[in-house]
Amino acid sequence: MLISIERKKKSVRDACVSEKEFLDAIAAKVIVCHKCELWKTRKNAVPGEGRPESQIMFIGEAPGYWEDIKGKPFVGAAGKFLDTLLSEIGFARQSVFIGNIVKYRPPRNREPLPDEIQKCTPYLDSQIRVIQPKYIVTLGNYSTAYIFSKVALPFSGITQAHGKFYETSILGMRVTIFPTFHPSASLYSAKYKEQLIRDFRTLRHELEQKRLV
Ligand code: URA
Repeated sequence: MLISIERKKKSVRDACVSEKEFLDAIAAKVIVCHKCELWKTRKNAVPGEGRPESQIMFIGEAPGYWEDIKGKPFVGAAGKFLDTLLSEIGFARQSVFIGNIVKYRPPRNREPLPDEIQKCTPYLDSQIRVIQPKYIVTLGNYSTAYIFSKVALPFSGITQAHGKFYETSILGMRVTIFPTFHPSASLYSAKYKEQLIRDFRTLRHELEQKRLV
């Protein structure tokens, strides 16, 4: 693509290039990326997917086993629970955008390293610029820490931060950040499962107030 993927939505319209084409261009770059070592062990890149005009973006950590096999975010056990949570608040997964801070699976699902996060997150930033979501829902510690660091919010763990709305500016755009637990936490703890359900209800209430559902 000749036009830089960094250009903003206004320019997108001016140039008659759709958000989808910009997101496809970002995905094409992700697929051939060799900036960190993860390309050596991953099967497929997982750039993220969903509705390019979505007002709400969900951001996880990194692909796991099934995401690596299928090249799609949140398609394993945690993803099934995310689908349930989404449908509870009135969203089909295709109606929102779902991505990760790291686009390749770390071996044996280990946590992403700072160097991997640093090298991979420019792709996420580009996706945020194109989508211009009104709400960013961060799933778990890693994505919340990354997004909070971008907006200079102090972060002392998801247990403190979850379930609240943080109105701020990111990459020059007004946005509300809503952190919650990672859906995989629901697989090993009933307490986190309940917290996730409660947080998604809080989110639904807010979106109803703003007439976004
Ligand atoms: N966990 C994540 O953080 N992202 C996925 O895509 C799948 C599991």
